[in-house]
Amino acid sequence: MSFTLAIIGRPNVGKSTLFNRLVGKRLALVDDQPGVTRDRREGEGRLYDLTFKVIDTAGLEEADGGTLEGRMRQQTERALAEADLAVFIVDARAGVTPLDAHFAEVLRRSPTPVILIANKCEGRAAEAGLAEAWRLGMGEPVPFSAEHGLGISDLHDAILERL
Ligand code: GDP
Ligand code: MG
Repeated sequence: MSFTLAIIGRPNVGKSTLFNRLVGKRLALVDDQPGVTRDRREGEGRLYDLTFKVIDTAGLEEADGGTLEGRMRQQTERALAEADLAVFIVDARAGVTPLDAHFAEVLRRSPTPVILIANKCEGRAAEAGLAEAWRLGMGEPVPFSAEHGLGISDLHDAILERL
């Protein structure tokens, strides 16, 4: 696996759906490794010609201790430290939320290159949210649908541009 990609974003934006699309059944079982918490999943991602390690910062809802924001920040920073590249997902149907803006701040302070994905972009309900995503100041959002498989080749190109 040539590089490591971290999937970042608040709960419910579609991180795990993207993770599953990239990794399929090649899920690494990391639960029994020391120091690896259950609130994170890793696997071997594939996207056309690319093979890489994917980290899904999942399960923040179930993790205990501290505030949601604190847990998210800690997990995000841990994943970013390990990653060559981050995919930051927002939910274009929900629009940009204060929690998204909080993540954008954490990402801005990290040297890790970021690809902004506007997920759930199938259909008209996402148009306003896609426009809002520009205001995060993280460059052009990639219109995407993890569930329907839209934007996959744009994601591939965005990865190549940042490697
Ligand atoms: P996570 O909490 O960020 O890991 O989000 P999940 O991957 O668990 O997805 C949260 C919800 O959004 C689930 O109900 C998914 O089915 C849904 N979802 C994920 N991707 C899409 C998408 O592209 N379009 C739509 N409409 N729903 C999606
Ligand atoms: Mg998840």
